[in-house]
Amino acid sequence: QRQKQKTAKYPNLDNYEVLENIGEGAFSVVYKARHKVTNKLVAIKILRKFQMDQAQKSAVLKEVTIMRQLDHPNIVRFIEFIDSDLYYYIVQELAPGGEIFTAIVKYTYFSEDLARHVIRQVAEAIQYLHDEVGIVHRDIKPENLLYVPIDTKPSVNPVAKLRKSDDPNAKLDEGEFVPGVGGGGIGVVKLADFGLSKQIWEHNTKTPCGTVGYTAPEIVRDERYSREVDMWAIGCVLYTLLCGFPPFYDESIDTLTEKVAKGEYTFLSPWWDEISDGAKHCVSKLLTVDPSKRYAIADFLNDPWLTKPYNVQVAH
Ligand code: ADP
Ligand code: MG
Repeated sequence: QRQKQKTAKYPNLDNYEVLENIGEGAFSVVYKARHKVTNKLVAIKILRKFQMDQAQKSAVLKEVTIMRQLDHPNIVRFIEFIDSDLYYYIVQELAPGGEIFTAIVKYTYFSEDLARHVIRQVAEAIQYLHDEVGIVHRDIKPENLLYVPIDTKPSVNPVAKLRKSDDPNAKLDEGEFVPGVGGGGIGVVKLADFGLSKQIWEHNTKTPCGTVGYTAPEIVRDERYSREVDMWAIGCVLYTLLCGFPPFYDESIDTLTEKVAKGEYTFLSPWWDEISDGAKHCVSKLLTVDPSKRYAIADFLNDPWLTKPYNVQVAH
C-alpha cells in the first residue's frame, strides 16, 4: 500500500520500485530504488522541478551533461535521466555505505592509514576530472564523498595493535571501532554531486571551452586557477579525516571568511600531537593560500605520505 503511494507520488518512474529515503539537499531528495527488471539497486536524485526557476533548471541539465561523460571507479556512475512535469530524476549507481561524513561523525576520526585509503581514492577521481575530462568539481566535502563498505580481515589483532598491547585476545568494547579493520570498513570511495561542477576544458581535445581566440585574459587565468579550488577542498577533507574537525571554523561567518582568506589554521594540540609530520606536511601543501604554490593533483599523488604503503586490507 505504501509502495503504491510512493510510486503514485513520483510519476514516470515505472521501471523502479522506490525504497527508503537516503539523502536530502536544497531542491532534491534522494531515494534508494530497485530496478524492477534487473533487480539492481540504484540511487535516484529527485529534483522538485516545480520549485525551480529557469537558471536552476539549466543547472540540473548541466549536472546531467557532466555526469554522462564520466567513467571512473571512484565516481558515482550515471545510469539515466528521466524528465517529467513536476520532477527531474537522476538515476545513479548506489553507494551503499552512504556519506564519509557519517563515518567521521560515528568514528570521531580516522587512522592515518584509513585517511590515506580514502583521500587517495578521492585524488584518483580528481586526477581523472582535472586531467582527462577537464572538469572542476567545486563541491568536494565529506557529504559528497560516498562509499561502498567492505568487511576487512585483519592479519594481526587490530585491537592489541591499537592499544600497543601484546594481548592477542584483546577485544573491542561494545560499539568501539578500529578504523579500517573492523566490520563496516570503507572500501571504494565514490565522488558524488556534480551540481556545482564546471567544465573548463573540452573533453578529449584539451582546449578551453568557448572560442579560444576571443577569450579574455581574466577568463583564461580563472580557468588556469579554477582546479586549485578542488585541491584546497581535498586539504580540508584530509585535515578533517585525520582529527575529526575542520581546519577552519568560527561561529561568525565574517571571522570564518577572514580565517580562510588568510589560511589561518593550526594543528591543534592534543588532537594533532600523534599525527605524523608527513601527514601535516601534506595537509599544509594543500592548504596553501597562493594557488600557484598549492599542490596540484599530480603533486599530491606523488606526495611521500600519500604514496606510503598502508595496511587497510581491501578485500577483492
Ligand atoms: P545535493 O546537490 O542536494 O547536495 P547530492 O547529489 O549531494 O545532492 O545528494 C544528497 C545526498 O544524498 C548525498 O549527500 C548522499 O547522502 C545521498 N546520495 C546522493 N547520491 C547517492 C548515491 N549514489 N548513493 C548513496 N547516497 C547518495
Ligand atoms: Mg551534495
